[in-house]
Amino acid sequence: MTRRPLIAGNWKMNLDHLQSIALVQKLAWTLKDASYDPKGVEVAVFPPFTDLRSVQTLIDADRFTLAFGGQDLSPKDAGAYTGDISGAFLKALGCTYVIVGHSERRQGHGETDEIVNAKVLAAVRHGLVPVICVGETEEELELHGTSAVPVAQTKAALAGVPAGTPVVVAYEPVWAIGTGKVATPETAQQVGVAIRAAVAAVLSDDDAAETRILYGGSVKSGNIAGFMRKPDVDGALVGGASLDPTEFAGIARFPDHVGA
Ligand code: PEP
Repeated sequence: MTRRPLIAGNWKMNLDHLQSIALVQKLAWTLKDASYDPKGVEVAVFPPFTDLRSVQTLIDADRFTLAFGGQDLSPKDAGAYTGDISGAFLKALGCTYVIVGHSERRQGHGETDEIVNAKVLAAVRHGLVPVICVGETEEELELHGTSAVPVAQTKAALAGVPAGTPVVVAYEPVWAIGTGKVATPETAQQVGVAIRAAVAAVLSDDDAAETRILYGGSVKSGNIAGFMRKPDVDGALVGGASLDPTEFAGIARFPDHVGA
């Protein structure tokens, strides 16, 4: 089983729709100049909702081999939910993916495991691949060790998801997000193995073998290779560095520096 690595850029609340066009153009050109092979590595961007239509139009018009997705979605499909965005709308815009359960939403918007699960189910209902973010805080790391929280969050997020459903899980230690501190590749591998076992327990062994497990937390072009050498790390969810197209393209070109 070979899993196509995924390098995903979470722009968070940065870049308006005009800036999004400039970034996607520069990213696509930089990747092209570097002879990027989309068959070998998938690259996806996650712009703010207000940018999605511009990004979609540009990617379609210029036939860029970039995927894109939303940063969140409503657990509901439609109705009186002011400010929420339905997975149906994201699908209609051509989104492949949607991020669910990012720690900034768990912490800043009170998203519990139950809410994250409802959002994962909504994504699946609308044919979107959820990029499920899991990870422990520094306190949780001290209390429970390395894998306990990511495993529990993975199992909770996947409850009720039918076997055979494509999902992506991103292990993002909260203490590594936007801090410049990174987990070691060995830790990412250890947690990747534990998350894969959790996917097998809730979905199936085949799903576990196919599920891409990403590492996220202060990934840069200078440290991606160490992670990508690990067999259970299948890509990266990148925040800050995804706002710099040259740096992000450098991360996507990790095969150039992973070596044999
Ligand atoms: C993220 O927000 O998902 C993230 C990993 O951020 P950063 O790369 O900036 O640590």
